[in-house]
Amino acid sequence: MLLDAYNWLVTLDKPNAQHPLSHVAQSPVAAGSKRVLLASPRGYCAGVDRAVIAVEKALDHYGAPIYVRKQIVHNKHVVASLETRGAIFVDEVDEVPIGSRLVFSAHGVSPAVVAAAAERELQTIDATCPLVTKVHREVQRFAADDYDILLVGHAGHEEVEGTAGEAPDRVQIIDGPEGAANAKVRDPNKVVWLSQTTLSVDETMETVNHLRTYLPTLQSPPSDDICYATQNRQVAIKKVGADSDLVIVVGSANSSNTVRLVEVALQAGAKAAHRVDYASEIDETWFEGVETVGVSSGASVPEVLVDEVLDYLAARGYGDVRNVTTAEEDIQFSLPPELRKDLKAAGQDVSNKQKRD
Ligand code: SF4
Repeated sequence: MLLDAYNWLVTLDKPNAQHPLSHVAQSPVAAGSKRVLLASPRGYCAGVDRAVIAVEKALDHYGAPIYVRKQIVHNKHVVASLETRGAIFVDEVDEVPIGSRLVFSAHGVSPAVVAAAAERELQTIDATCPLVTKVHREVQRFAADDYDILLVGHAGHEEVEGTAGEAPDRVQIIDGPEGAANAKVRDPNKVVWLSQTTLSVDETMETVNHLRTYLPTLQSPPSDDICYATQNRQVAIKKVGADSDLVIVVGSANSSNTVRLVEVALQAGAKAAHRVDYASEIDETWFEGVETVGVSSGASVPEVLVDEVLDYLAARGYGDVRNVTTAEEDIQFSLPPELRKDLKAAGQDVSNKQKRD
């Protein structure tokens, strides 16, 4: 079930068990003053989980190689793990041998990419997140009604390219408040704003408010485009950031929602916030005078990478880990229908589950 991102449950007052490495703590500051606030929800969202499992099951069922257009999700570790199993990541469909099997990433693709794949007779599996597909449908619907569509999002991001590609002659990309003044519309009574799914909620509303100074009749999306996972992780990091001297967000540089988490933590009051792909990227100098470390991770980050960060922190005296839970998530998306059909025909498991290390 899709949760209301603001219907959250705060359990800050309930410390969880000590991290297993807490016994090795050697604290240079007052004993007991160091702690970790661990944001929850964090890490994998339903769309990322589904996309990664789709590639894993495709490799198991059809065998390697399985081609994937762009990074299946924006995380170095996930991409490297799938590559070792036989996935081949390409930028465009013309790099894929004719007739091969190709997975579209969670970020979605434009109709032009789908057409190019069909032209090469590729057997495609569409792992686009259903919440991205929802925004594609909104573009199709408003374009069919002859609206101008102002798509708030980052120019050049794969998701934005795919969404805008649904109606290139009707969509204008508005990249931040400074882009608002450039919007050109034909009829001020037929203009709607939509957005990328992984933006900062607050910054998006700032951009929309700018747009409204030029276009008071601007219509809002029929429902939130910024997805539940992005919103939930931002609410949690806000709570954590407000009480942290230092925040560490695990995730890759090209992951939009990860980068937003760093920004939101700083806006919430964290004295410093850094993004790392791996614990090995943490800089010892960040900890000078730090008592409370906030930790979270982007929606494409497997929990093993957070565990490594917690191990690193515990080894430096930050073994007291407290959960800061602002929402519970139990959302799952079923596997792409093309894959489900083949798995079912072969009598294999079609559930959205995969055994991981
Ligand atoms: Fe889907 Fe949101 Fe996850 Fe993106 S971040 S894959 S839109 S659930």
